[in-house]
Amino acid sequence: MENKYKLFIPGPVDVPDDVLELMSTPCRPHYGDEWLALYNDTIAALQQVFGTKNDIFIIPGAGSAALEAAIGSLLAPGEKALILVNGFFSERFGVIARACGIETTTVAVRWGEPVLPAQVEEALDADPEIKAVAVVHHETSTGVLNPLEEITAVVHAHGLPIVVDAVSSIGGVPLPVDEWQIECCATVANKCLETPPGIGMVSVSDRAWEMITARADRHRGWYLNLNVWHAYSQEWDWHPYPTTVPTNLITALNYSLHKILAEGLDARYARFAEVARAVRQGLRELGFSTLVSEPYASPLVTAVQGQSGIPADEVARFLRESHGLLVGGGIGPLSGKIFRVGHMGKAMTDEYVNCFLAAVRDLISRRSSQA
Ligand SMILES: *Cc1c(COP(=O)(O)O)cnc(C)c1O
Repeated sequence: MENKYKLFIPGPVDVPDDVLELMSTPCRPHYGDEWLALYNDTIAALQQVFGTKNDIFIIPGAGSAALEAAIGSLLAPGEKALILVNGFFSERFGVIARACGIETTTVAVRWGEPVLPAQVEEALDADPEIKAVAVVHHETSTGVLNPLEEITAVVHAHGLPIVVDAVSSIGGVPLPVDEWQIECCATVANKCLETPPGIGMVSVSDRAWEMITARADRHRGWYLNLNVWHAYSQEWDWHPYPTTVPTNLITALNYSLHKILAEGLDARYARFAEVARAVRQGLRELGFSTLVSEPYASPLVTAVQGQSGIPADEVARFLRESHGLLVGGGIGPLSGKIFRVGHMGKAMTDEYVNCFLAAVRDLISRRSSQA
């Protein structure tokens, strides 16, 4: 079934055709020398993209699976986490933590604003019971890029570990896991890594392992318990994970990661920045304004406000119905107030950018001819 839409939503993204082709190669077993060579090479490529020597696990499931594995393995029920909340996905991170029995306290700022290091400092000073901090790097619901390096420094100055939701940032903006000493960092295939949905990934530092393995209740839970993944990676070298893994998807991810590394991470970050700049400039010329102010606007998603006589939802409907382009809507308090344009996957190509701006131009010219 042909998808008639071009995806400008902030994930899943339109996957390049050469990556897609690998999804339709014959299924292979998830063990055996040939498979393991590809699997181990995929982990090594992920380590390069994450900038880490830490263990990385590929967990079949959504990004949320990797997030739940990270926070739920690090902290025991009853322990307290500080959650930095400035949008839908950071609220969700708190929901996931509480569902694991973790107590939470929050720093909450208005959606569209970043969480600032001073706010984290104040919250940590005020509550010595906090055992870890959870933060979303790129809040995809608003397009805000939180100042992760500075936040991490504050968290570490308090002697605490940080768990990062980098689901929509890894591969799109710099996030050097070892340089910043991020304890747990989770991402997903279907955003900046340009692969179809179905696998999450999480990196785990030595310091995180000390906490995870020291838990008295470390045998609690199985599939999302990182102790289980660790045990299989150590004990089952023929099959270093507890379950079947989606071999086609990992094959596609492997290929996509090598494409990304061949382009070069810095070149790729620069290309995202350039695409976001071009789209934003085009939108401003057409009378639109963006939600997030520099320097916190991520180059991966642009949240755009409606303008007089053209509500955000109507822009989204026009793009879908008249041009076959899908953009994201606003969520929660931003519902109806913004539309969101993703710059990931094929949306970062000149073809897509031109198509998008031409469609918005068409909307404006139809409007002015009606007026
Ligand atoms: C997309 C996204 C998620 C959720 O990922 P799922 O794969 O739907 O579980 C979580 N956090 C952020 C920042 C995201 O962009």
